Amino acid sequence: MPATKPTYDEVMSECHALARQVPGYCKLEEIGKSFEGRPIPLLTLTDPAVPLAEKSVAFFTGGTHGGEEVGRAATLALARWLLTSEGAQHLRTQVVLICPCLSPDGAIRNSYHNAQDINIYTAFPLDAEPTTPEAKAAYAIARQWTPDCYADVHGLAGGAIGDSQYVPHGRNSGLFLMSLAISHEMDAAAEALGYAQRFCHVILQRKGEQHQDSLFLRLLAEDNALTYTVETTENVYPLDDSVRSALARLTTLIKVGDRAGWYQPYRGYPCDLLAGSPVGALMTYGADYQQRRANRRKTSRAILDGSIFTVARLAGDPDHVATVRVQLAKEIADPPEGIVLQLRLDPRVRIKRVTFHGAELHPCRTDGYQLDAGPNYLALRAALHRPLRAGENDLRVEYDAPYVPHSD
Ligand SMILES: [Zn+2]
Repeated sequence: MPATKPTYDEVMSECHALARQVPGYCKLEEIGKSFEGRPIPLLTLTDPAVPLAEKSVAFFTGGTHGGEEVGRAATLALARWLLTSEGAQHLRTQVVLICPCLSPDGAIRNSYHNAQDINIYTAFPLDAEPTTPEAKAAYAIARQWTPDCYADVHGLAGGAIGDSQYVPHGRNSGLFLMSLAISHEMDAAAEALGYAQRFCHVILQRKGEQHQDSLFLRLLAEDNALTYTVETTENVYPLDDSVRSALARLTTLIKVGDRAGWYQPYRGYPCDLLAGSPVGALMTYGADYQQRRANRRKTSRAILDGSIFTVARLAGDPDHVATVRVQLAKEIADPPEGIVLQLRLDPRVRIKRVTFHGAELHPCRTDGYQLDAGPNYLALRAALHRPLRAGENDLRVEYDAPYVPHSD
């Protein structure tokens, strides 16, 4: 079969052109070579005047399946959009890493697999080396940056009408529900342009699943990143339409990266909620984005390996004491610098005393608690710059309330 558009050479020449055109904001590098020795390109797009510590990181790959042209075309379109005046505002708050052609040999062959006849999409087994040179290159970028968001953009050649995302369901229900809501928002943006969306597919992390060993499942499990596989339907729309549908969804995702919500009081992808729910959550510790990324990775690892096995708000607030309990099966091998525990209380309460491990905490941003009054709740965030112990780790909040709780 002839190579599809954009060809590998076209991708490379466009990458060079973008890096030449906007040198400070767009950097091109080679992150590795394909099995047959072709350079794998990566564009790093960001405003160089803003320090990395003040930015989120989003990572996009396209062309993982060489025969799927829209993945390459849509990720290049995203790079072009980020260099427009509308897109460039997000480069003040984000670093966007774009690898538009992860399978150069597959692009040249117009093949689903790489030159070793391996499917790069599922070449990322958890707790093992990636199995192809292309997958090693992509995974090295993920390890260098710990992205907050990752999306792999495909073209479902000959697929059913309508595009959407694969949404992974890991152990973190809070992140899953937000991923689902964001996926609907991405679809709505494409629908508004007239492109039918088919409704997302939820992917469970389990053996035998066709997405097993993919990078989006791996980065969800290892890093608690917001991850998607983005599908576009080739051979249903002309290429330009498929790209427009994908671009509407990808730019919506980038915009989500500049929002704040109940889950974290600073703007960013909603990945700092590591476990729990609005009433009692384990969050990432850190004063800036970079510190939070490093601690998010370590805390996620402790959840993944079972060291941290439950995080819960105990039921009922007996005697007006709210308790969030983090239970450790064993000590954490490579502990984070700290954790944040967040809980919500009735807005009418008055805080009397806050303790962790029995020691009193005081208002403090780095090792203590902060209060944030919402419209119908009072949020308490305790930043705990101290080690967790094997067994129970209780944050206790004693309060006065002008009501008597219901009891049996
Ligand atoms: Zn594909």
